[in-house]
Amino acid sequence: MALKITDACINCDVCEPVCPNEAISQGVEIYEIDPDLCTECVGHFDKPQCQLVCPVACIPLDPDHVETREQLQAKFERLIAGVTPK
Ligand code: SF4
Ligand code: SF4
Repeated sequence: MALKITDACINCDVCEPVCPNEAISQGVEIYEIDPDLCTECVGHFDKPQCQLVCPVACIPLDPDHVETREQLQAKFERLIAGVTPK
C-alpha cells in the first residue's frame, strides 16, 4: 500500500528529495504523497526511504490504499516505463 503523511508533519523537507518516484510534494499545509506514484519504494529500495529520514515518524502506511507487493512491483514497472498514472 502507499504511505501517507499525517498532520504531525513539520514541513522539514527531508523526505521529498529521497523519494525515488517523486511521489512527495509540498501540499497546502504539509507535505503529501501521491498514492499513484508511491510504491513503498518497491523496485528501488528494501525499505521506504521517506520513513527512514522523517524526524517525527509521521509517515504510516495508508489503509485507504492497500496493495500487495506484486501490485507495487507492477506499479514500479509502469512508472519506469513512463506510463502516466491514471
Ligand atoms: Fe516515495 Fe518510497 Fe516514501 Fe513511497 S515509500 S513516498 S516511493 S520514498
Ligand atoms: Fe514532513 Fe516527515 Fe517529510 Fe519532514 S520528513 S516533510 S516531517 S513527512
